[in-house]
Amino acid sequence: MRFIGGHVSIAGSIANSIENTLKIGGNCMQIFAGSPRLWFRKAFDDSEVQKYLNGIKENNLGPVFIHALYLVNLATPNPEMLEKSINSLVMDLQNGARIGSSGVIIHIGSHLGTGFDSVKDQVVASIERIIGLTENCDLILENAAGQKGKIGSLEELSFLIKKVNNPRLKICLDTAHLFAGGADLRSEEKIEKLIKELKDFDLLDRLACLHLNDCASELGSHRDIHANIGEGKIGLDGLRSFINQSEFLHLPLILEVPGEDKEGPDLKNITLVKGLV
Ligand SMILES: [Zn+2]
Ligand SMILES: [Zn+2]
Repeated sequence: MRFIGGHVSIAGSIANSIENTLKIGGNCMQIFAGSPRLWFRKAFDDSEVQKYLNGIKENNLGPVFIHALYLVNLATPNPEMLEKSINSLVMDLQNGARIGSSGVIIHIGSHLGTGFDSVKDQVVASIERIIGLTENCDLILENAAGQKGKIGSLEELSFLIKKVNNPRLKICLDTAHLFAGGADLRSEEKIEKLIKELKDFDLLDRLACLHLNDCASELGSHRDIHANIGEGKIGLDGLRSFINQSEFLHLPLILEVPGEDKEGPDLKNITLVKGLV
């Protein structure tokens, strides 16, 4: 059985994520551990955590990932912004450990045009600090679509993984980001090439999950616009072929699509994906 779920809301209580997942037919999920647009973070309430854990058990739900807030930038030249980024990630990881989360997924951030070389030491030191201050929850780096300054090419991810050299540092691949970054997932040959690159970069063993999104922007456009499954430029055949590669079969599939009603991953998209595996 494959783990398939989507990004769902925890509005009201973290325990509400369970009903939100069951409603869309998911058996795993991704959540924010607070507002994605505010720095403010607090520890989850004990009774809500208990309620949540009971719900996970009763409904036999699989891995739960936390997506870090969008403001995080480990490559920022602004020291205050860097401290806020690190503190929010530490809090997300601590909350993650309390709910048994499989990991906190982050967009590493942007060097704002100065180049990866100029920020890589800061990013490595920040990741080491975050991992050193936490336990029992992984930190998962997501690939980027290659938008100007955004860190997260396979080469950059590989550098960070090797440099930090900690088993708690993992990778999430987003299909829309791969495609917008130039990897043509519609071609079996290009998928094989991508898998070879992952091998060569020593990233294959580090994969924690896939973000399964169709892509509304063109191949290599470096524009990150998610589309509903089968409604984007990758299409059903490309997505089917990608997720069924033997190297990826063990990976949970997390949807971050707009949904029919623009309210996020829904039953229709999840059902479509169930038909692809
Ligand atoms: Zn993603
Ligand atoms: Zn994206």
